[in-house]
Amino acid sequence: MEKAIIISAPSGAGKTTLVKLLLQRRRDLEFSISACTRAKREGEVDGKDYYFLSDRDFQRKIREAEFIEWEEVYQGMFYGTLFSELERVWSNNKAVIFDIDVQGAIHLKEKLGKKALSIFIAPPSVEVLEERLRSRGTESEESLERRLAKSMYEMQFQNRMDAVVVNDELETAFIDLNQRVEKFLADKV
Ligand code: 5GP
Repeated sequence: MEKAIIISAPSGAGKTTLVKLLLQRRRDLEFSISACTRAKREGEVDGKDYYFLSDRDFQRKIREAEFIEWEEVYQGMFYGTLFSELERVWSNNKAVIFDIDVQGAIHLKEKLGKKALSIFIAPPSVEVLEERLRSRGTESEESLERRLAKSMYEMQFQNRMDAVVVNDELETAFIDLNQRVEKFLADKV
């Protein structure tokens, strides 16, 4: 059975760390590499972190219906998941895991239905969320404000997911998340 784990969260809730932990500790999962049009950050690798596309190539793929889901996550910055990426992972006999924004998660869950488990990673509080975003230090003040505003908005959608995991203490959140994944993958849907 082809299955998918969809992890979403407001920016700063720690979802990327949790997704990395899951990938390190489970051999039955493989990361879905999204396509995006933002600039590559220091240390990122094309074809590993993202497929970095030009605006033109991204728009062409939209026209040719190559995306299962795409979105303008930040103004002028497009992100999306290619059908070919799902096929690539499923042909390796793995479940696909997504690290995706909240709207994208809702769309993907609608499309994949019972094949997918959607999990929202929530920060313990709004203050902690802001602190985590600031301590990253990779963003300009303007970009940080934008991310924070979006995070506040996204918190409203947690009840649209199959499950919510609160990320207060990392290892505790990981155990909770891993148990949910374990159960979902074991179930014959
Ligand atoms: P970043 O620029 O920090 O790597 O990612 C920005 C946001 O885009 C994150 O919330 C990330 O989860 C989201 N994102 C990454 N890939 C996709 C995708 O394929 N579709 C959507 N809708 N969002 C994505």
